[in-house]
Amino acid sequence: MRNARRLRLRFDETSGTLKLTCPARMSRKTALAWALDQRDWVEAQLASAVPAEPFAAGVIIPIEGVDRRIAWDPKARRTPVLGDGLLLCGGPEDALPRRVESFLKAHALKIMSAEVAQYAALARVQAGAVSVGDAGTRWGSCSSNGRIRLSWRLILAPPHVRRYVVAHEVAHLVHLNHGQEFKALEARLFGQGLAEAKASLRRLGPRLRRIGRGR
Ligand SMILES: [Zn+2]
Repeated sequence: MRNARRLRLRFDETSGTLKLTCPARMSRKTALAWALDQRDWVEAQLASAVPAEPFAAGVIIPIEGVDRRIAWDPKARRTPVLGDGLLLCGGPEDALPRRVESFLKAHALKIMSAEVAQYAALARVQAGAVSVGDAGTRWGSCSSNGRIRLSWRLILAPPHVRRYVVAHEVAHLVHLNHGQEFKALEARLFGQGLAEAKASLRRLGPRLRRIGRGR
């Protein structure tokens, strides 16, 4: 837009594209720098543009990147069990969404605690308590006292995507910043394919955040 008076960022939901308009005299660099600062807003738009996928009988959800059908059988065990291509859940149907979420949280905690321990050993550092949660747009965080908190939703993603976040947080046990030394350690812990894993998380993120929401 040639005669725009100010910078504006708009999200077009149908095409899934972002449109940046800026005054003709403003440099591209300034406009792009401003747009990059709007990342939280952009992520929120992207997340709300993806339909919610509530947990229900017959619904297909990815677990560790593999599609599984939520199979409900009132006579099956209440605690969901991973089977071939499915997640078998028993008990009353109205409690099914809650039980699926509890199962995924416990599964996420078990797998990611083991991965934190593996990466911490590689980094020769002691990890504090590991916990899982569902904090907004963050996939993970590491506190100065060594506690690592990860989004349980990472268990939905393919293993290499999940491990990238785990390696990233373990590298923070050594460096509480994103400097050169941090990046070198993160790359050493994760190994090949870091950029690809990062890009996959960006791409999959909006859907992962919508799974299990809505009714
Ligand atoms: Zn970080």
